[in-house]
Amino acid sequence: MSTATIPNQAAETMKKPSLQPLRLAPRMSRLGGEAAFETLARARALEAKGRTIVHLEIGEPDFETPAHVCEAAIGAIRDGYTHYSPSAGLAELRAAVAQEITRSHGVAVDPSEVVIVPGGKPSVFYAIMALAAAGDEVIYPNPGYPAYESVAGFSGATPVPIQLREEMDFRFDVNELADKITDRTRLIILNSPHNPTGGVLTQQDINDIATAIGDRNIMILSDEIYGKLIFDGTHVSPFNHPALHDRTIFMDAFSKAYAMTGWRLGYAVMRPDLAKHFSRLVTNTVSCSTSFSQIAGVQALMGDQSQVETMRSQFQRRRDYFIDALNQIPGFSCRLPKGAFYAFPNITATGYTDKELAEKLLDQAGVACLPGTAFGEYGAGHLRFSIANSMENLELAVERIQGFVKK
Ligand code: PLP
Repeated sequence: MSTATIPNQAAETMKKPSLQPLRLAPRMSRLGGEAAFETLARARALEAKGRTIVHLEIGEPDFETPAHVCEAAIGAIRDGYTHYSPSAGLAELRAAVAQEITRSHGVAVDPSEVVIVPGGKPSVFYAIMALAAAGDEVIYPNPGYPAYESVAGFSGATPVPIQLREEMDFRFDVNELADKITDRTRLIILNSPHNPTGGVLTQQDINDIATAIGDRNIMILSDEIYGKLIFDGTHVSPFNHPALHDRTIFMDAFSKAYAMTGWRLGYAVMRPDLAKHFSRLVTNTVSCSTSFSQIAGVQALMGDQSQVETMRSQFQRRRDYFIDALNQIPGFSCRLPKGAFYAFPNITATGYTDKELAEKLLDQAGVACLPGTAFGEYGAGHLRFSIANSMENLELAVERIQGFVKK
């Protein structure tokens, strides 16, 4: 068809009546957005006007997905993995996940306990939707990953923040957690290593959490998406605590550790009766995770792991540089994150609020980062920088922030 015919056709299209008022369901007012994607859009708009921006706003590895994983997906497409899979996932990936978690967490996992989902976020959504409703309470870390509070509110439950304390290297005080637990508490969300602070739980924390919960019928959602990205010490989890194992929904995804954010692939492990309900949520929302991504996932878990370690050590090198450099900027003070790939400096001494400084750094210095309050009220006075970026870009960001602060 020649392009000349298109305007004529458009001229003949139906005249639309004016829009009626949009009547959203009340629950939509309780669903939040995500600042990282909003800031990315603003940064891209500035770039379209010719500005150069250092992108430290989005939490995604700057590495490529390992080549052997890509090859597995290409082979899978050729082999016909282009149709639906069972909602709970392909048997080969569920088996690979069971084997991997048995190895990494030292607790026997059966494939019937594994549900494959498209990424990390779906597990947050499904866990809350399956377990919490109006009248229930969901305890979540604050500052914390925004979906926890947003989805808990969306479900009709009351989100109850537990404050992460900077002076405790961004862990929470388990005594405070014990005070927040009520008869209405249905779910406690844990995230270690933690976004946005890089804080990690200790084994003592896990033991104390078990004591605080006692024999109450409360579930834990353990978001371990940064579990392979630890810099100091070892990764600990409630999943292999004898008193917490059955009450824990373990979740992980391929996004961060394997640089597979766009593949939309993750998994959750839980008691088999709950896994059936989780799968029903998959059936009703996305039917299944992408079949050829799942074959790539088998390769990611079972194949060569050297790239995971390469990325981890690169992130550690960048962390060491960036935190040291931030601490030399007047008004900035930053704890050393023990895992994940974020820096969360306290910037109260600059005299700006976190929102003001994040906006000024983007507009005036060309550095995109996020205000701490994008992660909840207790993030006030902090900024979040993703250090999943090249050394050159991190150095450029430091130079630009220093230049801005000196002005
Ligand atoms: N949980 C945490 C703590 C995260 O930081 C993220 C992503 O940034 C997710 C879950 C969601 O992961 P995905 O992008 O795979 O949905």
